[in-house]
Amino acid sequence: MEFLHTHRAEMISMAVALVAIMGGTAYYYYVTKKPKGCLDPENFKEFKLVQRTQLSHNVAKFRFSLPTATSVLGLPIGQHISCRGKDSLDDEVVKPYTPTTLDTDVGYFDLVIKMYPQGRMSHHFREMHVGDYLDVKGPKGRFKYQPNEVRAFGMIAGGTGITPMFQVTRAILENPQDKTNIHLIYANVTYDDILLKEELDEFALKFSSQFRVYYVLNQPPEGWDGGVGFVSKEIIQAHCPAPAPDIKVLRCGPPPMNKAMATHLEALGYSSQMQFQF
Ligand SMILES: Cc1cc2nc3c(=O)[nH]c(=O)nc-3n(C[C@H](O)[C@H](O)[C@H](O)COP(=O)(O)OP(=O)(O)OC[C@H]3O[C@@H](n4cnc5c(N)ncnc54)[C@H](O)[C@@H]3O)c2cc1C
Repeated sequence: MEFLHTHRAEMISMAVALVAIMGGTAYYYYVTKKPKGCLDPENFKEFKLVQRTQLSHNVAKFRFSLPTATSVLGLPIGQHISCRGKDSLDDEVVKPYTPTTLDTDVGYFDLVIKMYPQGRMSHHFREMHVGDYLDVKGPKGRFKYQPNEVRAFGMIAGGTGITPMFQVTRAILENPQDKTNIHLIYANVTYDDILLKEELDEFALKFSSQFRVYYVLNQPPEGWDGGVGFVSKEIIQAHCPAPAPDIKVLRCGPPPMNKAMATHLEALGYSSQMQFQF
């Protein structure tokens, strides 16, 4: 009996020691080996342009390398970075951008940029060549994403406002534990203006029960079966989750569109807690 007691005590001590060692190892790994982000919220840091892919006449994907092949950018989901450049008059300009990559993409990050003819930062990106460096500061933004925080996201994006939506969507769909449903309304002027269409359509096909996208065009091509004109109250009613405490509608587009969407959402009964503007 005494032998059994001693033996049991020894087993318990060993188990406790084992748990302590495992816990210590996990903590050490978490603290020391967790990939450290490359951003500094206070100071601009330089990132090298390693690839530039033209996606349409005025849109290009810019790939920037991180310091090592295993580095991650370290940008929380739904947040953005500030990029600094020079406009056509050589004056400094700083603008926000949301990478289309996540921290599961190691060694680099991508920006999909639409370059407007008169745009100040657009000028800087237009002039950038592989091998040039971009000044970047961050993370920035108030959006905090938690898996399963809401039952469903409505998303209303206009033009380049798709990039934060794309980032949040990717994070949700790539996490099998995250069951959040996504209802995206994506507005553009013409069909050719639609950014990341191939990727969005693939999400809609692969995750058909979790992700839906409805495109709206001001100038649709012949035979277009999506929405036409501006995003209306009726379009929101038909394609966004109804107002409820466990849903949120995210907005990102040109300022006049954001204003119009806020008015529509309020009229439809979405409280301010049910809305977020990037
Ligand atoms: C959170 C956030 C994330 C963003 N992420 C991206 C991104 O990933 N990729 C990206 O390309 N942009 C993104 N933007 C927009 C970006 O910050 C700039 O506003 C955009 O690049 C234009 O800047 P600019 O200095 O070139 O143009 P400006 O000098 O500010 O504007 C010049 C002219 O360009 C036209 N213009 C500018 N912006 C728009 C617009 N949104 N819609 C229609 N016409 C416009 C107007 O006619 C304007 O008069 C994001 C914005 C926010 C708020």
